[in-house]
Amino acid sequence: MSIRGNWEQGRAEAVSRMGEIDRRTFVKLSGASAAALVFGAGPFIEEAVARPKFQGYPFKLGVNSGDPLPDGVVLWTRLAPKPLAEDGRGGMPNKNVPVRWQVATDERFRNVVRRGETNARPELGHSVHVEVEGLRPGREYFYRFKAGDETSPVGRTKTFPSLGSAVAQMTFAFASCQQYEHGYFNAYRRMSEEDLDLVVHLGDYIYEYGANEYQAPGGNVRFHKGPEIISLSDYRNRLAQYKSDEDLQAAHAAFPFIVTWDDHEVENNYADEIPESGQSPEPFLQRRANAYQAYYEHMPLRRSSIPRGPDMQLYRRLTYGNLAEFNVMDTRQYRDDQAAGDGTDPPNPEQQDPNRTLTGGEQERWLLDGLADSGTAWNVLAQQVFFAQRDFDTGDGQRFSMDAWDGYIGSRDRISKSIQDKNVRNPVVLTGDVHNNWACDLKADYDDQSSATIGSEFVGTSITSGGDGADTSPSQEAVVAENPHIKFFNGQRGYVRCTITPEEWRADYRVVPYVSQPGSRVFTRASFVIESDNPGLQPAGTNPVQGTRVSTTAIESDSERIAAQERADVRGRRR
Ligand code: FE
Ligand code: CA
Repeated sequence: MSIRGNWEQGRAEAVSRMGEIDRRTFVKLSGASAAALVFGAGPFIEEAVARPKFQGYPFKLGVNSGDPLPDGVVLWTRLAPKPLAEDGRGGMPNKNVPVRWQVATDERFRNVVRRGETNARPELGHSVHVEVEGLRPGREYFYRFKAGDETSPVGRTKTFPSLGSAVAQMTFAFASCQQYEHGYFNAYRRMSEEDLDLVVHLGDYIYEYGANEYQAPGGNVRFHKGPEIISLSDYRNRLAQYKSDEDLQAAHAAFPFIVTWDDHEVENNYADEIPESGQSPEPFLQRRANAYQAYYEHMPLRRSSIPRGPDMQLYRRLTYGNLAEFNVMDTRQYRDDQAAGDGTDPPNPEQQDPNRTLTGGEQERWLLDGLADSGTAWNVLAQQVFFAQRDFDTGDGQRFSMDAWDGYIGSRDRISKSIQDKNVRNPVVLTGDVHNNWACDLKADYDDQSSATIGSEFVGTSITSGGDGADTSPSQEAVVAENPHIKFFNGQRGYVRCTITPEEWRADYRVVPYVSQPGSRVFTRASFVIESDNPGLQPAGTNPVQGTRVSTTAIESDSERIAAQERADVRGRRR
């Protein structure tokens, strides 16, 4: 409580200090620039207006679009001629820099339909977030930025169809977990060549570890710059390093993204104000504020997500015509601490305590109200951690991951019960986190397999985290056999492509044979279909294994492996 209070006070002081600076700056300005400041359009440092000179190409982090609406979309870039400059300023001066933007219906910008100018401001790392309005629904657009004499790459984006309008089909991909050191972003290169309306990112966009602290089983193939990230400039530079990747840039330039985070955008397995490694909360909240600010600065998010100290509004809802509603969730910022010390544990009283929460009360009410009121055929929970029960004990006992919904039984039960009570149509959970592909049915009671199937869950593998991986392993197949509602496992890298119509949801598990070298192809390892109003996964074909068939290392379970590795890392870097 007192920590939050201090933060609010600190924020108020910061705002008032900023006001003083603004006023002092204001009186020094010429009349013309002062007028520009009043209207919020122009820069307030005059020498930045005329012709900003950059120490290099300022658009090295690419362009993004995100959170489409029927009449608009967010456009993003960040000016960073020296993306990894030590001070975290990207090689930019401590001044506002004007940036112009254009939206056109064609790639050559012959038919520009919207244009404007905004300021890249130093207090937000010279990032630019433009909320374009006045576009037409369900249309493809192209966008670009200009700063000084420099022009950005061209991005393509797409608006959502009108609210409630009949939609015949949409196609999107979802992805997660892109440990830069573990591999090349081959999956993003192949994704950028798909024909998608949208990409959903479920978290672990970056990893916080210092160079080579978290190693893939086959060894790391490229390296983080610098030690574990703590400060704002650390987080900025880590995000800038990831954003510099050309394969990631290609995917962003091709499609609008809807992003949400998991733990590694801040720190492994953090829970609200509680860090993993047993630091006291107060310095952790400062670190969380740094991480959240840098995350906002680097993502195509709306103003509603501008952080306030250590708090940031990220959960939100996006509606695609009458076809699908995306409930984009945040399962890190409001959760109770993991039960039983955050391992893979037998059932325990803390895990079963109905008062504990994974979402926080406010987000839970928002989710349940939204699901109950939805008018779309499909209702998506775009979130982070494994939702269905997953028993790792292949004997009579049970062992569950305390970081996943299995560690927050009360939260999961309330959602499952509400789905049934309110007859929520076609709920589909999308999940990241575990660095493997899984497909599951959601049950009314996981310990009674004859109970109702109330929805399905697609768990997508990582883009790179875990390295090349292997198709399967005996221990993972044993987990599938132990949990009859789990229908599929694959341990390679990639993304999941979903094609939705009013009649069915088709999920194709797109897998790359390797990430330890650039340039791999992609193939569909397996496909599943859900028929509308007929809950449960139906197999829709599998394809021959490509890459390594069986893991040669003894992998017990992904969460154990990751947790063990990450615990070792934590021990290694504890100061
Ligand atoms: Fe991850
Ligand atoms: Ca068991």
